[in-house]
Amino acid sequence: MRVLLTGGAGYIGSHTALTLIGRGHEVVVLDDFSNSSPEAIRRVEELAGVSIPVIEADLADREAARAALAGVEFDSVIHFAGLKAVGESVAEPTRYYRVNIDSTLALLDLMAERGVSRIVFSSSATVYGDPAVSPIDEEQPVGVGLTNPYGWSKFMNEQIIRDAQRARPELEAVLLRYFNPVGAHPSGRIGEDPAGIPNNLMPFIAQVAVGKRERLAVFGDTYPTPDGTGVRDYIHVMDLAEGHVAALEGAVEGVTVYNLGSGTGSSVLEVVRAFEEASGRPIPYDIVEARAGDVATVVADPARANAELDWRTTRTLAEACRDSWSWQSQNPGGYAG
Ligand code: NAD
Ligand code: UDP
Repeated sequence: MRVLLTGGAGYIGSHTALTLIGRGHEVVVLDDFSNSSPEAIRRVEELAGVSIPVIEADLADREAARAALAGVEFDSVIHFAGLKAVGESVAEPTRYYRVNIDSTLALLDLMAERGVSRIVFSSSATVYGDPAVSPIDEEQPVGVGLTNPYGWSKFMNEQIIRDAQRARPELEAVLLRYFNPVGAHPSGRIGEDPAGIPNNLMPFIAQVAVGKRERLAVFGDTYPTPDGTGVRDYIHVMDLAEGHVAALEGAVEGVTVYNLGSGTGSSVLEVVRAFEEASGRPIPYDIVEARAGDVATVVADPARANAELDWRTTRTLAEACRDSWSWQSQNPGGYAG
């Protein structure tokens, strides 16, 4: 397939691009580089040994996106493009809704104009809100107890795609609800390069390990979990990338939803210890107040993806820490050097 990757220069997109090429697919990247660097694509090209067409455009600007994609051939789409910082979405809701919703609306219309019917969408476990059960399967309620515009935008995008499919029955749409993506390509050449202070646990820990930040703040230790800290399902980004290939290749008419997670929960302190082990560096931390909007436990039941896509995670948290450390220690300033 020739796959358009919106947001393909980002963290998950760059790893997925490499994995798709490894499986014999061709990729085209559309990105506005608002949260990424062209260097990521250069490195994917270097690792893959092929050149990748890159279109620089804001997908939320439909006229610009249409013009930029004129004459560019693709027969399927993986839609990663969007803004993803939860706290920022609370501070700037209109920007988050505009970018995250307008991008999807423009893309769906462009796909219809171009006769493209296969789309894989980056959704998130955040659509489950504060789940009543663990692990969570895809039949659990979504859109209840969401606490921020980022989460709402994922929920709304899922609904938009469902409605688009109802109007265009030939659409083959796959909604992938990611749990917590971590790690990097084992080469350490590509990885997660957050701008400013990392919002997410693992990149924050990696920056403490490399000496860029002094101490980790652990957000709360009185949750109803074994050690009191929050439990999440961390999934190696290369496993996640393989999940995209499986979803794309296995897409069928209609809308299908898959959790992409490992099925195993780890606490904040378990991640700290795993990273210390992998890096050989101490991670000093303080226990602070719980973060507003956080929930105790979010763990995937990935049985549907295991069965229908013949996909499962094969990499451990220890490997994710090792690869994250390899990326961070070789690239202490991210792609900027
Ligand atoms: P990322 O920020 O690294 O990648 C997103 C890419 O989209 C960036 O390269 C950015 O420049 C680009 N982009 C943003 N707005 C754009 C626009 N208007 N037009 C064109 N390009 C645009 O994020 P990521 O971690 O790779 O996440 C990819 C997708 O997965 C996002 O939709 C995100 O919400 C979703 N997701 C991420 C996580 C996570 O923890 N990383 C979890 C669940 C879901
Ligand atoms: N966390 C933390 N300190 C940080 C960042 C995150 O203790 O600096 C905790 C957070 O409370 C949660 C877990 O680490 O229990 C994962 O948080 P992250 O923001 O990476 O993912 P999400 O909240 O989206 O699951």
